Amino acid sequence: MAYFLVCVECEAQYDGSKYRLNCGLCGGLLDAKYDTPATVEARVVSGAQGTARFLPTLPINDAANLVTMGEGNTPVVPLPRVGAQLGVANLNAKMEYFNPTGSFKDRGNTVQVSVLKDTGVGEVADATGGNAGHSFAAYCARAGIRFHGIANETNADSRKVHAIGLHGTDIHWVGAGKTARSEGARRFAEDAGILFMNYGQNIYFIEGLKTLAYEIAEQMDPLPDHIIVPIGNGSIYQGMWRGFREMLEDGRVARMPRLHGAQTVETQPVVAAFEGRVWTPYEGEAASRANGIGVTNPPRPKALLEAAEESGGKFVAVTEEKILDWQRLLASMEGIIVEPTSAIVLGGLENLLASGDVKPSDSVLLPLTGFGVKEPIPGY
Ligand SMILES: [Zn+2]
Repeated sequence: MAYFLVCVECEAQYDGSKYRLNCGLCGGLLDAKYDTPATVEARVVSGAQGTARFLPTLPINDAANLVTMGEGNTPVVPLPRVGAQLGVANLNAKMEYFNPTGSFKDRGNTVQVSVLKDTGVGEVADATGGNAGHSFAAYCARAGIRFHGIANETNADSRKVHAIGLHGTDIHWVGAGKTARSEGARRFAEDAGILFMNYGQNIYFIEGLKTLAYEIAEQMDPLPDHIIVPIGNGSIYQGMWRGFREMLEDGRVARMPRLHGAQTVETQPVVAAFEGRVWTPYEGEAASRANGIGVTNPPRPKALLEAAEESGGKFVAVTEEKILDWQRLLASMEGIIVEPTSAIVLGGLENLLASGDVKPSDSVLLPLTGFGVKEPIPGY
């Protein structure tokens, strides 16, 4: 067996023959571990994404079950005008919205859906409606997996929901709110006797995000001093950390960039935990236009804090005004339109410069996670 799963709470181990979300003994979340170095399968998975020096190991048993659309290989593009405005000489973007469905989620879903196929799962249910749901629907379509997406009626006019439908998803409508959606998905799956995906919790999605770290190591020598990403569930942050840690452990890179995360002022559970403050979740939906990261209770908070400590990173909160300002400035100064959820990283950089954590002479990389033209643009 090329990989196995370990419970993060009680350390029980499971082989990779079955799709698993949780530990069967204690219900804890799982981590993926590898008992062989880069497997043949992993080489195939990442073959389109890297040289022999920068290949991630991924939790897929049989390369024939790969579900891929050429994701990854996104370019690194300088941001000279925004850099000059902020006073950072070496500022680059990694264009993650160049992925097949317009967001970084494709890196996670190529692995997650390949694991579904690899473990013989043919029908699943999950809450849906955003970039993750759009991406997941696309990969399920390609894999021939039947996807029941539970969506909010209040979101019926969203272009992302329309795209999810076009991919052949069986959409089941529930009333407003994130809880209605996720509870609806859990109950639907239970009634139908099918797998509840719960994408924010499974480890496969996070493992897919390791490819981002491997690509950065391949594209940038020296590595950037800082990388800043948006934090909702924290999958991109944890994926990068795991990727850099693997490369650091076997000597493929000499150091890890400082990994920072940005949250909205409205939804900042990770920033509060990092600063040792109590943060009380609000009732209902987030109001911020950065709706991709309105996650009040991220599933792996300990891993996020550990990653920040290990990499010397910080978590910072950004105001709504700054998020929308930076979305506009990135479009008008650099020609790049991203979602508010992505534009938040520029507000994060501004905060880190103000606190002195990022110095003007440091190099900074901003993964731009989601295309800004999928949904209506604020102010227009
Ligand atoms: Zn356990």
